[in-house]
Amino acid sequence: MILYNTLGGTRQEFVPHEEGKVKMYTCGPTVYHYAHIGNLRTYIMEDVLEKYLRYAGYDVLRVMNITDVGHLSSDADTGEDKMLAGAKREHKSVLEIADFYTKAFFSDAEKLNIKKPDVIEPATHCIPEFIEMVSRLIDKGYAYLAGGNVYFDTSKLDNYYVFGNMNEEELQVGVREDVGEDENKRNKTDFVLWFTKSKFDDQELKWESPWGYGYPGWHIECSAISIKHAGEYLDIHCGGVDNAFPHHTNEIAQSEAYLGHKWCNYWFHVLHLLDKRGKMSKSKGGFLTVSLLEEKGYDPLAYRFFCLQSHYRKPLVFSFENLDNCVQAYNKLVARIAKLNADGAPDLEAAKKYQDSFREALDNDLNTSLAVTALYDVLKGDINDATKLYLIKDFDRVLSLGLIEAAEKKTADATADVDVAKIEALIAKRGEARANRDWATADAIRDELKAMHIIIKDSKDGVTWEVEQ
Ligand code: AMP
Ligand code: ZN
Repeated sequence: MILYNTLGGTRQEFVPHEEGKVKMYTCGPTVYHYAHIGNLRTYIMEDVLEKYLRYAGYDVLRVMNITDVGHLSSDADTGEDKMLAGAKREHKSVLEIADFYTKAFFSDAEKLNIKKPDVIEPATHCIPEFIEMVSRLIDKGYAYLAGGNVYFDTSKLDNYYVFGNMNEEELQVGVREDVGEDENKRNKTDFVLWFTKSKFDDQELKWESPWGYGYPGWHIECSAISIKHAGEYLDIHCGGVDNAFPHHTNEIAQSEAYLGHKWCNYWFHVLHLLDKRGKMSKSKGGFLTVSLLEEKGYDPLAYRFFCLQSHYRKPLVFSFENLDNCVQAYNKLVARIAKLNADGAPDLEAAKKYQDSFREALDNDLNTSLAVTALYDVLKGDINDATKLYLIKDFDRVLSLGLIEAAEKKTADATADVDVAKIEALIAKRGEARANRDWATADAIRDELKAMHIIIKDSKDGVTWEVEQ
């Protein structure tokens, strides 16, 4: 499989550390508000990546954190803790907020057919691991104490800007904001590993540490949680592109300083979902959520379909007009699948050609829109319906569009609406007419049934009927 790797800024053949196994880490949500559909674009594309790796035969371990402490209002380490701000907004405790929005996140994820990662770890459960990591960084000379906080000393690294292909001006934006605000820092790119002093000293959750009563920085949590569950060598680290700097850059700095070797080989970044105002963001407000889409009558899977039709490395502009087009396309797709006849056996030999083009699409840096095209090619293909259904089921292990389920529901709904007694009575009457060679009446009854969207079939075993799709 070829994947674009932000580390190096090129498309590269994916080779995991251990043959047949993939260790994957995903930056989880900051649970101070609902996830918006931009956040969820990132999780949908990561879900496709994970499922495709499994489809391709890898044994995948996927770890995700829940940020319930430490993410300050700037992605650099200044401002108020986002969790605390959320708690104040809703007059609840930080833990109540975390619990509520964690549940909301997984409920949205489930509606979008996003699989739960194998390991889900809230930051507040890993304080001893953070303290151990920070202690070792101090012992190794990579971290220093100043003004009550522990900082990572970026001047100790040969190359701090590991994603060097990115625009340095842009990279520094998050950092420049706090120049002058924090005079404890030796270098402008240094970042906090452990806070005991902050302008915002009413932090609700604090823990004892060798450096005083305090709380962890945001970046340390992803390094420590990843190393705790996935070990010293990570294959793929995922996140939205805004996480590349400073968050992922800082994660690499501290993880590699701590471990003493290279940590993660592939960095997978999903580009942003945009709306009229630019990047959709929680802090700007006015964002769209899954519940809002549902209130407006959209099936969340239509949004997943919308995301799959564009490449994860291109910004995606959201509009209701584009979503409406996707809904129509999705419904048509489901209607075509509902018409397929499940009788008979799939031709596995004939299926291979289609599976090859599906894999080719996803092997090409996860080209999901081409994978969707491969699905349409199945429907158009010169293969029997059973083979088509077999392939659609197979592809949907990765695409997770719920196609078979939606088609079955469509058929069941159509059948539920029909008046079976009336249909059977009409069929019996038609049988009598035919026995009496009264062809005109028989034809009139057939037309009456057709107007009710009932199609009848005569065979040597009798008359059968089905609802027209
Ligand atoms: P957060 O809950 O803010 O920590 O963000 C969760 C994930 O969503 C992170 O991987 C972010 O990089 C990603 N993200 C944030 N905004 C967007 C957006 N507009 N489009 C796509 N991904 C985003
Ligand atoms: Zn992270």
